[in-house]
Amino acid sequence: MSRVLIIGAGGVGGVVAQKCAQVPEVFSEIVLASRTIEKCEKIKSRIDRTIDIATVNADDVNELVDLIEVASPDLIINAALPYQDLSIMEACLATGVDYLDTANYEPRDEAKFCYGWQWDYHNRFRERGIMALLGCGFDPGVTNAFCARAQKHIFDDIEEIEIMDCNGGDHGHPFATNFNPEINIREVTAPGRYYEDGRWIEVDPLSVSKTFDFPGIGPRDMYLMYHEEMESLAKNIPGVRKMKFWMTFSGEYLTHLRVLENVGMTRIDPVLYNGVEIVPLKFLKALLPEPASLGKSYEGKTCIGCLINGKRDGKARKYYIYNLCDHARAYEEVGAQAVHYTTGVPAMIGAMMILTGVWRGKGVFNVEEFDPDPFMEKLNDYGLPWTEEFLE
Ligand code: NDP
Repeated sequence: MSRVLIIGAGGVGGVVAQKCAQVPEVFSEIVLASRTIEKCEKIKSRIDRTIDIATVNADDVNELVDLIEVASPDLIINAALPYQDLSIMEACLATGVDYLDTANYEPRDEAKFCYGWQWDYHNRFRERGIMALLGCGFDPGVTNAFCARAQKHIFDDIEEIEIMDCNGGDHGHPFATNFNPEINIREVTAPGRYYEDGRWIEVDPLSVSKTFDFPGIGPRDMYLMYHEEMESLAKNIPGVRKMKFWMTFSGEYLTHLRVLENVGMTRIDPVLYNGVEIVPLKFLKALLPEPASLGKSYEGKTCIGCLINGKRDGKARKYYIYNLCDHARAYEEVGAQAVHYTTGVPAMIGAMMILTGVWRGKGVFNVEEFDPDPFMEKLNDYGLPWTEEFLE
């Protein structure tokens, strides 16, 4: 019986709150806090249990500490934005509460995301006797658990990991992002980076692509990007030689993005307009559809998984493990599209692992550092079943 504090009432936060509410035997009390109380109220109205809601500015450590002291949670699930990761971790240290998030810290003024800032908290969390679980969404999150499973059960030696994220769905808008537009566009327009023999190799944004035939979806063009789970997998999967992350984009999405970039709308530095400073990307966010609103008309599926090469008993193996998630079914269950669903469900399950004592530690951890089996069993139970197969 535990009390959880969820911070952030966007698309992901809404799924996390509803999925936690489905498991009262673990999450006996739920508090949902965010910047805009109306968003918390809307989520609360979808839940047929009593939950508490609150307003908080999660950039402000003192405000967070006050809220934590009143709410007195056993765990905080950070479903706000990467900008808030460090302030929430500071508040966890001040109050001695465990922490979980789905995306690594990113400073506002630089489109750079890496685990370094959060890994630096390891000793302080260890000394305080609490734990932080980083990146427990789908990618990162489930993809890390897929790799841990491959390491534990499938291979003696993993040579290459390719993480492939396909959204085969259609939301009916000419251009929209599937999660927070600011974070999404910063990520997509950053240089690509892959791992080879202990080195990171950088390429121009979206300059490398290939086609893959996704199960249940069909062939799609996918583009090489840098993604945070490769950083922790390079550290935690011993011997891995090569890693790439691929994401699919439609021609229409890429054309819109190119035009927006060319005219300066994706800039994150302030520009002066009529005597007022505005950040073009923030302004663009205000014009685009809210990702949480896309679910209603979304059709099709997402397919996210890992294609892994390596050896078992001296013989070469090619292994593919993935989940297929249907946008319309996710919407029917929790009123959210599949990208939010595939992020929120693993966050709830990670929280369950911590609160039931299945995954425990003192310090800062990534998903692949824990036993993947109990986590993956719960994915099957709570709406994200996975499939594994050996390719030729
Ligand atoms: P949204 O923009 O829909 O939601 C973010 C929420 O956080 C909003 O309710 C927002 O409030 C709130 N928030 C923002 N700043 C503050 C603040 N200072 N104090 C309090 N609340 C704040 O984003 P998403 O739900 O789409 O994404 C949430 C997170 O999930 C992101 O970090 C994203 O990177 C991550 N993610 C992870 C994935 C994975 O697989 N690992 C995949 C997809 C997303 P307000 O409404 O007032 O702005």
